[in-house]
Amino acid sequence: MLDNNSNSSITADVQALDADHHMHPFTNTGALNKKGARVITHADGVYLWDSEGNKILDGMAGLWCVNMGYGRTELIEAANEQMKQLPYYNTFFQTTHAPVAQLAKEIASVTPGDLNHIFFANSGSEAIDTIMRMVRQYWSIQGKPYRNIIIARENAYHGSTIGGTSLGGMGGMHNQGGPLVPNISRIRQPYWYGEAGDMSEEEFGILCAKALEEKILEVGPDNVAAFVGEPIQGAGGVIVPPANYWTEIQKICTKYDVLLAADEVICGFGRTGSWFGCETLGFTPDIMSMAKGLSSGYLPIAAVAVGDRISNAFIGHDDDFNHGFTYSGHPVAAAVAIANIQLMKKDNIIDYVAKDIGPYFQQKLREAVGEHPLVGHIEGVGLVAGIALVKDKATKAPFSDDIDVGMICRDHCFANGLIMRAVGSRMVLSPPLVISHAEVDELCDKVQRCFDLTLQSIS
Ligand SMILES: *Cc1c(COP(=O)(O)O)cnc(C)c1O
Repeated sequence: MLDNNSNSSITADVQALDADHHMHPFTNTGALNKKGARVITHADGVYLWDSEGNKILDGMAGLWCVNMGYGRTELIEAANEQMKQLPYYNTFFQTTHAPVAQLAKEIASVTPGDLNHIFFANSGSEAIDTIMRMVRQYWSIQGKPYRNIIIARENAYHGSTIGGTSLGGMGGMHNQGGPLVPNISRIRQPYWYGEAGDMSEEEFGILCAKALEEKILEVGPDNVAAFVGEPIQGAGGVIVPPANYWTEIQKICTKYDVLLAADEVICGFGRTGSWFGCETLGFTPDIMSMAKGLSSGYLPIAAVAVGDRISNAFIGHDDDFNHGFTYSGHPVAAAVAIANIQLMKKDNIIDYVAKDIGPYFQQKLREAVGEHPLVGHIEGVGLVAGIALVKDKATKAPFSDDIDVGMICRDHCFANGLIMRAVGSRMVLSPPLVISHAEVDELCDKVQRCFDLTLQSIS
């Protein structure tokens, strides 16, 4: 048994166990084993501690998920109570339980439009797989099983099951573990800073939305089931589309009767200053996935919110939907998610992000590093931001391949008590929504310091 003290024997013990038996996600485990993984021991608010006693500001809210911060008694107690009452039962055998039914209602109380029916899963990837199967089955029920092509985007992230990998636009993932799921098409991403040349944001927004129309016409409108996108691309580097992009996308989907699906796994639950990213970006999907912030990451749970058009088809159809998971609507995870949503409402966290801390964070970040020689561009809304690091601000020229500026910067952050993630040469931030003004100041000071150190390292 390992105790919870901060000392180097704990570090060495855990690292040894880890190296002997643990294979890490999205990691070269061999290389990590040689160096030893960092051991996180505990957390509170927006801070983490490692086994060496270092206090670290978590600029990523875990993996974009610990929205209400660490150590929230309300969430811990909800889990504890539900564990005692009913730790598990399934929802397959014509059975239900109070936590899953109540959570469905809680989620419906915060989703926009008619997204009022909820299907449960345990991860964002499973929610995405659920959407893929559901939209195809929807068209089957309509007597159009040939409408089964799903269109997504380059550099999109939709999880890492075979469905999520196939739908997403990450080349490094497509290269492994294929062949991929067929009948998926992809269009360009709306990355204005990186890909628009001299075009205005507005022109580029139209161009990128037009790419959807062109793709629909290329594959045949009567073969397309749905278009799927993250309101703001997260793992792709926090790419905020031009303001007109999503309204144009919605028009095109309506014109060709293509279902519109939002992957809200990061944007959902307040990240952008609305309950869901589609509200901030100005569109109304037919169906959407959510996970991460749903339980603030305290337990694994995900959901798909289904609008009337699709839910009516399934509910009115005389057949089972042959899909679901052993832990769909797990009672303990559901109890935590209910407590999380109620806590978000009680703390008025959406208003706090929209009107107070979100604008403050965006402004402070620009004050701290907007003029920094490494920074080409900062984009973000609410409490999510992406920063493009470039070799030359004027020409936007990137660093040569032998300088991995993102990794160099990330390592300086790690060594200086800040977690900031690198996506190629983009640095991304997504702190807990409960972060205070003083903590934002500390965060931005650290970002500035780490950018200075990065510049020194590469010059
Ligand atoms: C994280 C993420 C997923 C996958 O969620 P998992 O819980 O890791 O399976 C899917 N879509 C988006 C947009 C994500 O950010």
